[in-house]
Amino acid sequence: MPCELIITDLDGCISPDGSEPWDLDLFGEFARRVRDAVAGRNSLAPLTICTGRPQPYVETLMKQLDIRVPAVCENGAVLYSLPDNLARFGPGVTEEKILGLRAVRAFIETDILPKYPTAVMQFGKEAQVSVFSEKPAIFPELKALVEDFAANSGAPELVINNSPLYLNISLAGVDKGSTLRALLAELGVASEQTAGIGDSEGDLPLRDAVGFFACPSNAQPCVKEAADYVSPFPELKGMLDILQRPECQRAV
Ligand SMILES: [Mg+2]
Repeated sequence: MPCELIITDLDGCISPDGSEPWDLDLFGEFARRVRDAVAGRNSLAPLTICTGRPQPYVETLMKQLDIRVPAVCENGAVLYSLPDNLARFGPGVTEEKILGLRAVRAFIETDILPKYPTAVMQFGKEAQVSVFSEKPAIFPELKALVEDFAANSGAPELVINNSPLYLNISLAGVDKGSTLRALLAELGVASEQTAGIGDSEGDLPLRDAVGFFACPSNAQPCVKEAADYVSPFPELKGMLDILQRPECQRAV
């Protein structure tokens, strides 16, 4: 079945997970392919991003790749459309839940971070809380502390999981999959006509929302198990390999 839209995670798929410079040759090739797809100069389906990253970070990448379809930011809590510069909350995000999440954030800042010097808050998020650490072994402890606070403070129901370097605290019912499904309904695109790319546990809801799902070789084992195709190459090399697949080509 021809592909109408490719939806990809960002960290670990487009860029390396760590704080290292991007490979400009590879990124240039990727950007050219994605831009050529928008201009109809190749058979690749249009691509958009579905990431935990905040909107301003995604906006810069959308400009580099000439992405016209709205992108999913903050693991589904925010949608951003580049052509009209419009950011909005994803379905299921209410003002009341935002206030509850701010209380969780305040607890992390005042009670957790002082005790875990390797952990820092990721700035710039509106409807999700992410804690960065290069020592992810601390994430289970942090998760238990946040769960305990949430259970005793009347916080909204939360889902807490982690990617290699981030502990992500999200509103229950708001994830990459639920927001992507809403976006596809808006666009009138059937899930069977979409391809998804991701590398970590937080991408599993994305897996369930697309017809074909692939991952680079650096993906977590649970993602590889769920994938229709596992590239032999890591990160952006894996992405370029996946984009050659027939499941990623539009009708010509
Ligand atoms: Mg990732």
